[in-house]
Amino acid sequence: MHVLCPDEAHGRLVDIDLERLVQKGIRALILDLDNTLVKWHEAEIPPEVDQWVDEAKAKGFKLCIASNGFPERVRTIADRLGIPYVSGALKPRRTPFRKALMRMDADSHETAVVGDQIFTDVLGGKRLGLYTILTRPLSRKEFPTTRILRGLESWVLRRLIQEGYIADWR
Ligand SMILES: [Mg+2]
Repeated sequence: MHVLCPDEAHGRLVDIDLERLVQKGIRALILDLDNTLVKWHEAEIPPEVDQWVDEAKAKGFKLCIASNGFPERVRTIADRLGIPYVSGALKPRRTPFRKALMRMDADSHETAVVGDQIFTDVLGGKRLGLYTILTRPLSRKEFPTTRILRGLESWVLRRLIQEGYIADWR
């Protein structure tokens, strides 16, 4: 179960305490795109997300998007935020996370993964020994395959909350 347990869980991306991450020695963030930075299938960056990214940059964090999404869409949003990206990522495979580490010139022990899915973002990050942060999905809309995984995911989340691994955040 611990391979599915995020180190932190937050209702919103902007609830992540960047200062606390700095104190933990985290210097780089691998960010999921769909339903983490923007709503699924949308290109509009919420103003508070934009602000949070600026704040992270100002604090000296290196950032990189890693998304299973199509290159063009991922690039458009990454360019708008002014950060590098890995697209077509096939998370939870390790390759996209390794590529993101290379793009940022960051080590695994100083890097956190931020994303809305246990079976791609958290599991993938854990496989490389990264610090993992789960956020609530920005929208209920998503890929049909994701929706199937959500049933299993909500079971895992309930167990993690019941067993006291993460706080009740829903
Ligand atoms: Mg996502």
